[in-house]
Amino acid sequence: MNAFGHLRGLRAGRIFLWLAVVFVLCFGLMVALVVIDQQRVVEASSRLQDQTVPEIIRYQRLARNLEQLRQEGERVFAASTPQARQQAMFVVTLVASHPSVLEHREAAEAARQTERFLADVIRRSLNDERVFVASFEEWQRLSARLGILVDDVSIQGINLASKDLGDVSATMKLARIKLIAALFVVGVFLIIFMVLLRAHLIHPLQRIDRALSGLSVEQPPPAFEPSSMVEIQAVEEAIGELHASLVQNEEARLALESLANKDGLTGLMNRRHFMLTADAELQRAQRYRRPVTVGMADLDHFKNLNDTYGHAAGDTVLRAFAALMQETMRQSDLVCRYGGEEFAFVFPESGLEEATRLAERFRATCADHDIRLPDGRMVRVTLSIGLADASACALEVALKHADEALYDAKRQGRNRVVTAGELRAETGR
Ligand code: GH3
Ligand code: MG
Ligand code: MG
Repeated sequence: MNAFGHLRGLRAGRIFLWLAVVFVLCFGLMVALVVIDQQRVVEASSRLQDQTVPEIIRYQRLARNLEQLRQEGERVFAASTPQARQQAMFVVTLVASHPSVLEHREAAEAARQTERFLADVIRRSLNDERVFVASFEEWQRLSARLGILVDDVSIQGINLASKDLGDVSATMKLARIKLIAALFVVGVFLIIFMVLLRAHLIHPLQRIDRALSGLSVEQPPPAFEPSSMVEIQAVEEAIGELHASLVQNEEARLALESLANKDGLTGLMNRRHFMLTADAELQRAQRYRRPVTVGMADLDHFKNLNDTYGHAAGDTVLRAFAALMQETMRQSDLVCRYGGEEFAFVFPESGLEEATRLAERFRATCADHDIRLPDGRMVRVTLSIGLADASACALEVALKHADEALYDAKRQGRNRVVTAGELRAETGR
């Protein structure tokens, strides 16, 4: 089965192939007909040149000879001396026996009659000159007949030429009509081809182009008008699959990003991500000279809890703590699991005083909060928190100060909040 096996519709490739075949057949037929006509024209022209023109020349020569025969006859009657008559008669005899006259039946007959008549008149005139006057009327009849024959022969020659020329021009007219029909067929096919191309390929390709340029995981998959061409359907289907895989990739990317940035146990931000985010937050606060405080927290006697209730119980407590932190802290506060049972914070837009209030509220909430262990038992865990102003130092320095404050909170008996300022004031550091 091929790539389009499951699609229902027409194949553009096949349709255009059929169109091309029909076009080539039609156009080829037209061209063949035009070529046949062209051949006819060529044949008629060469016939005109090889046969008709010599024939016309023969007719013209015959007409000229007959005319000469008539004129010489006139000279016989008009001549004043017997020598002049004999000369004219000599020419009459020559012309009457000319091959062009002899080969034309009617002309040969007329020439023979004329020759015989004139010879007879001349012979009789030797005894009596008046015979010319007596025979003149008959000569005029003969002369008129010769004149008509001259005209007939000329017309016959012209008719021969006009028949061939008529054939040529009729064939050329036919060829012109066929050529126009062939051009018309080409035009019609071009229009059909262009309409099909526009409707079934160019427009769908434009839709595909628009769909591809607007393809995004934020947008729903592009919806296409149903196309009748399987090739287009295949591309549209592929775009749908591409969109689905883009969405899948984006989901996988988000999942990976979350894995890379979150702590696996608590779902809080991990230390690496916290350091980057907190650093950006501190830089922003310091650039705009805004208050910002960092904090470190550590669960009290957590080792004991692990030892007493088990590691899984410890994990449950860590998770419950993280959830409580997220509930209690503000949206803008940054919270992370710094490592083990230690947590780090950033309180943006909060000076030490406000941060102490927030930390104290959280500490008190934790101290009052019962945590249910997997075995159903309830425990309470306290925590110690150290805070430090971070509005004028690097993140690492501020965290170190907060850690020192945390250490001091432990030293002072745990379950309390200590700020680095107090610590420095107390110890003179
Ligand atoms: P302090 O009040 O001085 O902080 O005492 P502590 O017992 O909490 O401190 P210590 O550093 O001695 O012990 C920390 C314990 O936290 C040790 C370790 O077993 C436990 N811990 C660290 N990470 C995890 C964890 O992911 N899960 C569990 N269940 N326990 C952990
Ligand atoms: Mg610890
Ligand atoms: Mg501890």
